Amino acid sequence: MTDSIDTARASADPLITDPRVTDPRQDLLAFATRGADTRVDLVGMERAALEAALVELGLPQFRTGQIWHWLYHRGATDFADMTTLAKPLRTRLAEVFRMSRPAVVTRQDSGDGTIKWLLRFADGNEAETVFIPEEDRGTLCLSSQVGCTLSCTFCHTGTQRLVRNLTPAEIVGQVMVALDHLNGFPTAQRDRRLTNLVFMGMGEPLYNLDNVVSALRVIMDGEGLSLSKRRITLSTSGVVPMMARCGEEAGVNLAISLHGTTDDIRDELVPINRKWPIAELLDACRAYPGVNNARRITFEYVMLKGVNDSVDDARRLVRLIDGIPAKINLIPFNPWPGTAYECSDDDTIERFAQVMLKAGYASPVRAPRGRDILAACGQLKSESVTLNKRERRAAEAAE
Ligand code: SAH
Ligand code: SF4
Repeated sequence: MTDSIDTARASADPLITDPRVTDPRQDLLAFATRGADTRVDLVGMERAALEAALVELGLPQFRTGQIWHWLYHRGATDFADMTTLAKPLRTRLAEVFRMSRPAVVTRQDSGDGTIKWLLRFADGNEAETVFIPEEDRGTLCLSSQVGCTLSCTFCHTGTQRLVRNLTPAEIVGQVMVALDHLNGFPTAQRDRRLTNLVFMGMGEPLYNLDNVVSALRVIMDGEGLSLSKRRITLSTSGVVPMMARCGEEAGVNLAISLHGTTDDIRDELVPINRKWPIAELLDACRAYPGVNNARRITFEYVMLKGVNDSVDDARRLVRLIDGIPAKINLIPFNPWPGTAYECSDDDTIERFAQVMLKAGYASPVRAPRGRDILAACGQLKSESVTLNKRERRAAEAAE
């Protein structure tokens, strides 16, 4: 444990101290120039919006499918590559539109294959995205907000001051960057490395549901990025009034950050519990559209030493979720610099898991991934910056 904290500290400023940073260029000028680009960005537009934009330019409807294919199936970033379109059309498109990606500020590769990107958006705000390869799948952990307005006491993201919602383009952009780096285009490959998505990065996705749903429509489109709703999981701290809409409009799997078995404890760990306490949260789970034994709700439970990890807690947890088609995910607490919490001992976690097992829940303990690059659950945090004067002047001069 101490080891991982020290490693985490050493990599706290990856640009300066971490030899694993493989893309340390902080190309602010290039970023600023892109930020000043006034052409309409096609990435992140839903099909209908793309069609409307093309029709406005006088193009026939069938062009939408062609351009969609280049954008999301082939991952084109330059209209010049769209060889099924006549050259003058490509030139015209490039005058009006662009196909952008968030800027990659840093990429860090963990010893266990996990990759973390710190991405910067047009306004200078930043968020992180993490790729976690496993034997039978590759999961991309997406951020839905810059920071998070909720302040769960054990979560590093919750300590970040700057918060805003990510746009659909910025959410889709995270997938595009990952696919660029993983050679994931064209998307119809047999051995796709990126197979699953989870909204378990920075932010509370149900506080940004409109943008998340819009991004998901692009991401799930079968003629493009083509990731099915069965392979997408949205994790929420418990924004009860938005849960049904999430099921109806996105139809993705739901994970609930439960973490406590009494309102007293959960009030402290996940303060949103004061607004929507455990009983209401579980009622909303029972009513989640499409939930059944084949599509269970995942309950996430972070193991915090001496706080929520007793056998009594385990028994209470079993009683609470009785009757809900459920999976349980025990997450060893991932420490971050400055936290007062500690992870439960292995024996304690094992005892907890045994109670679950006896009650019929195979409760895998989620192996922490990417701890050495502060990429594990709840460790994501970035200091969002804005351009300084010199950078702004340089950007203006480049216009
Ligand atoms: N805001 C959403 C999704 C992002 S957090 C939510 O809270 O569900 C993804 C998961 O990581 C949540 O279950 C969260 O409680 C958990 N988490 C946060 N900080 C953690 C930490 N330091 N160690 C382990 N898990 C953590
Ligand atoms: Fe926000 Fe989720 Fe972290 Fe809580 S655990 S502060 S909801 S990101």
